[in-house]
Amino acid sequence: MLDPALQKTLDAVLARNPGEPEFHQAAREVFDSLAVVQERHPEYNDLGILARLCEPERQIIFRVPWVDDRGQVQVNRGFRVEYNSALGPYKGGLRFHRSVNLSIVKFLGFEQIFKNSLTGLPIGGGKGGSDFDPHGKSDGEVMRFCQSFMSELYRHIGEYRDVPAGDIGVGAREIGYLFGQYKRLSNQYEAGVLTGKGLDWGGSLVRTEATGYGAAIFAEEMLKVRDTSFDGRRAVVSGSGNVAIYAIQKIQQLGGIAITASDSSGYVVDEDGIDLELLKQIKEVERGRIAEYAERRGGRARFVSEGSVWDVPADVALPCATQNELHARDAKKLVENGVIAVSEGANMPSTPEAVEIFQAAGVAFGPGKAANAGGVATSALEMQQNAARDAWSFEYTEGRLTEIMRGIHQNALETADEFGRPGNYVIGANVAGFRKVADAMIAFGVI
Ligand code: GLU
Repeated sequence: MLDPALQKTLDAVLARNPGEPEFHQAAREVFDSLAVVQERHPEYNDLGILARLCEPERQIIFRVPWVDDRGQVQVNRGFRVEYNSALGPYKGGLRFHRSVNLSIVKFLGFEQIFKNSLTGLPIGGGKGGSDFDPHGKSDGEVMRFCQSFMSELYRHIGEYRDVPAGDIGVGAREIGYLFGQYKRLSNQYEAGVLTGKGLDWGGSLVRTEATGYGAAIFAEEMLKVRDTSFDGRRAVVSGSGNVAIYAIQKIQQLGGIAITASDSSGYVVDEDGIDLELLKQIKEVERGRIAEYAERRGGRARFVSEGSVWDVPADVALPCATQNELHARDAKKLVENGVIAVSEGANMPSTPEAVEIFQAAGVAFGPGKAANAGGVATSALEMQQNAARDAWSFEYTEGRLTEIMRGIHQNALETADEFGRPGNYVIGANVAGFRKVADAMIAFGVI
């Protein structure tokens, strides 16, 4: 049961945003966590901070027309939700996937506010994307789509205003086409307007690896609290995109054995540890299916098309695919199989029921807004390098990322303690992320 004043605010938020289940899920989780703050600081809610936080500062929805390779006109919908700029310019990725709608963009944008605050860097929260599906599209089609998308978006973004980046379906290729069109339309080389750029034209080393690396580092920090480490431990990872690939790499560097990867067609199990070069070749270069991994591994790996990757016994789990990919039954199975830590590389991959099961079983659970903040944190480092017209080394940048991830872990852990919920990283992350944004909003007055 929520405090009645909080409940009233939440009810109004839910009623004002009907038909947006993912956004409701993200909002509910934050309100549940903030119950501990409400007990000590009712002034946040009284000052309308929560009501204002839940209402995006600006939401842009636009038509994206483009012509496919057959000469047919296609129409997609573009979104940019500029959620909160209390701590800095709106910052967050663009997702191109057929599932994208306003609910998805708003849940992601809302999460991004707290995540970006936790990084300790000066970035606000935002998110965008389109229901465009890059799968099976030619480079030419992707380019024309990106150019059309940016032809509207360019007027809303800027180094000091809103700084998009990648997310699912948006990688270096798409950022290149988007940046090219922005540069052409604005007639200036404004490197800091987008992050995730190529290394030759303003990108940062470690940005590609950062989300996956960060999620593995966060897991390692949670293991350290339990006086253990990745050393010799089996890890089950879902997904096979940018986050999963570099989570696997970092787990291996930390001495763990990452034994799985997946896509929408199924998963592969490789008991020797995933062969990263092969996975990257299939997924990044050829943009192929995960089954090919098992075929090309010569009997050392198996492909499974039924059931769930979470059925594979492991000590640590890193969901790195997408929202709501890990359900109550999966959480039960992982707990039965003895999992000790779960670190979310994706955004909101565990359902609320799954999170409850992990927490009730005493599993260390790192929520996405803390565990996957390494990506956006390194985007902020890319912005720093762009502003200084500088380029840092891999070692230095990775050192900064590691420091930031350890800081987020520590902050979430200490905040959970401070509010009497030791070990609860969900409450710790939400409260710590919230406080900083809320205090800045109070300083600015009612705007
Ligand atoms: N899409 C990533 C996220 O979910 C990164 C955003 C960014 O780098 O701005 O945090």
